Parts: sequence; structure tokens; C-alpha cells
Amino acid sequence: MTTALRPRFKDMMNLVVAADACCECGSCVAACPHRVMEMRDRKPAKRAGSEGASDHCGVSEGIGCDVCASVCPRMWPREPHLRDVVFGPQPAYEGIFGVYRHIFVARTRDAGTRERGQDGGVVTSLLAWARESGLIDGAVVASVGEGDAPCFPTPKIATTVEQIRDSAGSWYTYCPNNLALPGLAKAGVERAAFVGVPCQITALRKTQCTDPSLLLVPGKKPQIAARQRESMAGPGARVDFSIGLFCTEVFRPELMTERIAGEMGIALEQIERFNVKGEVLIHQRNGAVVTIPLETAMHEYQRPECAHCGDFAAELADISCGGVGTDRATIVVLRSQRGIDIWRAYEASGRVEVWPIQEHKKAWNILQRLARRQRERVPAASPGAVPVQHAAVAEAGTLQYSPHQHARAAQAAFEAAQPDPALREASLAAVYGPRAHPVPQGPVARSPIPGEAAGPGPDGKRKLPPPPGVEQGGASPAAAGRCAQAQDDGAARLFSPASVMS
Ligand SMILES: Cc1cc2nc3c(=O)[nH]c(=O)nc-3n(C[C@H](O)[C@H](O)[C@H](O)COP(=O)(O)OP(=O)(O)OC[C@H]3O[C@@H](n4cnc5c(N)ncnc54)[C@H](O)[C@@H]3O)c2cc1C
Ligand code: SF4
Ligand code: SF4
Ligand code: SF4
Repeated sequence: MTTALRPRFKDMMNLVVAADACCECGSCVAACPHRVMEMRDRKPAKRAGSEGASDHCGVSEGIGCDVCASVCPRMWPREPHLRDVVFGPQPAYEGIFGVYRHIFVARTRDAGTRERGQDGGVVTSLLAWARESGLIDGAVVASVGEGDAPCFPTPKIATTVEQIRDSAGSWYTYCPNNLALPGLAKAGVERAAFVGVPCQITALRKTQCTDPSLLLVPGKKPQIAARQRESMAGPGARVDFSIGLFCTEVFRPELMTERIAGEMGIALEQIERFNVKGEVLIHQRNGAVVTIPLETAMHEYQRPECAHCGDFAAELADISCGGVGTDRATIVVLRSQRGIDIWRAYEASGRVEVWPIQEHKKAWNILQRLARRQRERVPAASPGAVPVQHAAVAEAGTLQYSPHQHARAAQAAFEAAQPDPALREASLAAVYGPRAHPVPQGPVARSPIPGEAAGPGPDGKRKLPPPPGVEQGGASPAAAGRCAQAQDDGAARLFSPASVMS
């Protein structure tokens, strides 16, 4: 296994942290089994007072570990490489915004959540329904609570419906939600939902998909290997489903402190919420709304680390949500079968209204443009960078992460170096724990979005595909089911004995 496909602590500290590509998700710190790292000034660093160079970890170089680098969203494998292992072999459509099975627009029917939600209040309403119906016993969210500085959210584990409702709305400074994952066990949460921006969803998926065979090292005590595996995979295994938020960037904290509080003289305590709709809208508690031109905010306060991020639409989430081109409504993308199952039950509860994506062409078009722009902006030198691939021509091109292949290679090397069969068995049992050994994974059976052109036209311009119809996943699963039923009924009427007789 080459180093590029087996990221190490040293690579992560040099190619990500020192290279200013680190998104500050905290996943490396959260997953470190030996408490070598901490978050300092929002970035991962070796604990204060520890010895040696900042890119040297004695565990990585000694008994072997590198759990941190394996879950880092900036290292290989990145979003396009994880597609097949995350979504499995079920049929799906694929476009520039990732794999999807359904895409539509929705709004909660709960007036209170609609009022407090960022767009259609769908994320909060769905979480509240999941908690009330016992599907989850907690959710990882971001909110500004007691003890937090105003306008600066911190990660929370919300275990009550009230706490979930309190988390409605978007904050545009970075909140490292993954840091909350190790706390799920202590909070007694066995089945959680996780809400996060795309870089956080990628890190979560890595904790769920990475094959633990990377921990097989001859001479390592099985109990150490078991601890490393649990630290890497245990918290993510408690996450039943993930909701990813569309995201082009976050702002540096100075937007709040320097610009809004300092230059504009608005006390941060007086700010109720933000929105970004062509401009940055600052909603104050007294009802006043002040704006900052989006270009100014982006030019002066966009966090530069986000330029290393190519995932606008949370391509690896079970359910992705965003608000571009909509008015008080949420664009919903159902990607996995788990996402579809949850949405079906939620929609059946009557708490949400839905519209086909064809009725929101503007939202669809902006989604295509922003997703492409984001993929294209990743510098080629960024670790694990993926060349922009068009869905229709990417079939053979994108190397997929295969837990099975990694397991075979690691186990073969381990067997050769560890001839004692009993020790081998003990190590394998420790490394895999209750996890099944991976089996070969087939590719996602995907089709390009109908009408999507493979490349730019002769004029160099790229024609956007039209929004898909109901029967191509352009509506909620229930609406698609009604459409199929209507077609069946129509066919049945056409060919029924009565119709033949009349
Ligand atoms: C930093 C950021 C940037 C975004 N950029 C875009 C964009 O460019 N285009 C677009 O279409 N949509 C963007 N979104 C998503 C959009 O703002 C809404 O979150 C989404 O449309 C869902 O709306 P809702 O009303 O259904 O969510 P709500 O019901 O209001 O729920 C919002 C959820 O967001 C979570 N949250 C709030 N702040 C953060 C944060 N800083 N980090 C992680 N989670 C958070 C809360 O925990 C809550 O669960 C962004 C969101 C964030 C947080
Ligand atoms: S290599 Fe292991 S012990 Fe060292 S920092 Fe990374 S996760 Fe922690
Ligand atoms: S895991 Fe997250 S916090 Fe750690 S180096 Fe990678 S991007 Fe930064
Ligand atoms: S743009 Fe990417 S890196 Fe930046 S906050 Fe959003 S998801 Fe994370």
C-alpha cells in the first residue's frame, strides 16, 4: 500500500495542517486513541508540553496507529473515492452534485420550526420527529447555547426535542461538530443523527467505512489494537443517519468581531440569526435587518481553508439539505436507502409539504453551478485532490476506496510477519471486534442525470441538464410512488376487461 493510499500522521500535519488546508473539523483529535493531540487556536496540534517535532507522533512511528490521518477529510480517500463504499450497489443517478435517488423541495408544516429554521425548517423538524418517534435518542447539532460566545456555535448532543428545536438556524462561523461524537457514549446515546457541513460528513463517513486492518502491526498488543479500533470506529457506529448541509464556505470569526461588532457597532448579543441570500442578512432581535454585500464578506472574511474543499452538496450524507434559489424552503437530496426509508416515514407523519424539483428550476440550476465551481476550485496540489470528472465519463476514471482490498493487502503482510497463528487470530479479533470482515464491494449502478451533456458545447459553454422528472427521482419518494401507482392504474384501466368491452 503506497503512502498516498495509507495516510499517516506526518502527512496530515504537513500536507493539511501546515499547508493551511485543515478545515478544523477536529475529527483527528476526536478519534486519537492515545490523547496525543488537542485543538489549539482551532487547529489540531500535539498536546501542550509534549516532546518532539510537531509532525512526529511516537505512536505512529512506533507501534503504529494513524487513526487521525485515516479519518481526516482532506486526505485520501476523498468524496468521489468513497462513493461506492458509502452507497453500495443500489441504482442511483449521479451528477455534479453527487449520487442521488430523490431530489425535491420541502417545508415543515410546524409553524414554530418554520419561523426559526434557516430555510424550510426541514432539518430541525425531521430531527424532532425522529426523536419523538424513538428512531434516535439524540442528535449532534450546532447551536449557540448558554456559556457560548454570542454568534459562535459549539457542537451539542441534543437529547430532547426542545434542545433539537433550539438548534434551528445556520451560523456561518465554523463549528467542529465531529468533536461531539466521542461524547455520544457518555450521554447514553445509542442511535444518533448527525448534522454537519460536507467536510464533517466526509470525516464521519471515514470513521464508519475505513477498514481497521490498518491497525494490524506485528508485535502490537491486541488490547492496544482494540482500543485504537474503538476510538476510530466506535462513535461513528452510533450514528444512524446523517444530514449534510450545502456549503460554499464559512467566514472567519473576524466577520463577527471586527466587522459586525467593531465597524458596524452591532452588539453580537442582539443578533438573532444570519442568512446568506445574495447578501449577508443580519437579523437583530429588535426586528431590524442589516446587510453586508456578499462579495465584501467573501472577499474579506471567507476562510481560506475552504478553498481546499470540493464538496458543495454533502455528497456522502444520507440526506443533504440546502437553500439556494428557494424562498423559505429546503432543497432535499436523498442519497442512500437509509435516507429514503427515514424520509418516507417522516413524510407519512404529515409534518412536511413537498414540491417536485421541476417546480424549482432556479434552485436546481444554482445547485449545478455551485457544485461544479466548488469541485473545480480544489488546488491540484491539495492532498487527495480529485480531478473534476463528469459523471457520464467518470465510470472508469475514479479510483474507489475498497475496504476489502485494503484488508487483503494488510492481512497478507501481517501474516507474513507474524507466523504464530494464535497471535494472528488474537490480533485480527481485536482489530475487527464486532465488525464484519469486508467483502468485495460492487460499484453503484448509476446513470447520469437525464439530459446532462458530457461536456461543454462547441461554443465552450456548458448546458445545464433540465431538472429531473418525478419518475427520474425529481420528487419525494411518496410522490414518485403515487406517480408509479397512477401509471399502473392507468395501464390497468386501459387493459381492463371493462375498457376492452366499452
Ligand atoms: C456554515 C454553513 C454554510 C452554508 N452554506 C450554504 C450554501 O452556500 N448554500 C446553501 O444552499 N445552503 C447552505 N447552508 C445550508 C443552509 O443554511 C441550511 O442549513 C439548509 O438549507 C437547511 O435549512 P433548514 O431550514 O431545513 O435547517 P434548520 O431546520 O434551520 O436546521 C439547521 C441545522 O444546521 C445546523 N447548523 C447550524 N449552524 C451550523 C454550523 N456552523 N455548522 C454545522 N451545523 C450547523 C444546526 O445544528 C441545525 O441542525 C449552509 C449552512 C451552514 C451551517
Ligand atoms: S497517530 Fe494515533 S496516536 Fe498519533 S496522533 Fe494520530 S491518532 Fe493519535
Ligand atoms: S481531521 Fe479535520 S481538524 Fe484534523 S487535520 Fe484533518 S481537517 Fe484538520
Ligand atoms: S466549504 Fe467545505 S471545508 Fe469549508 S466549511 Fe464548508 S464543507 Fe467545510
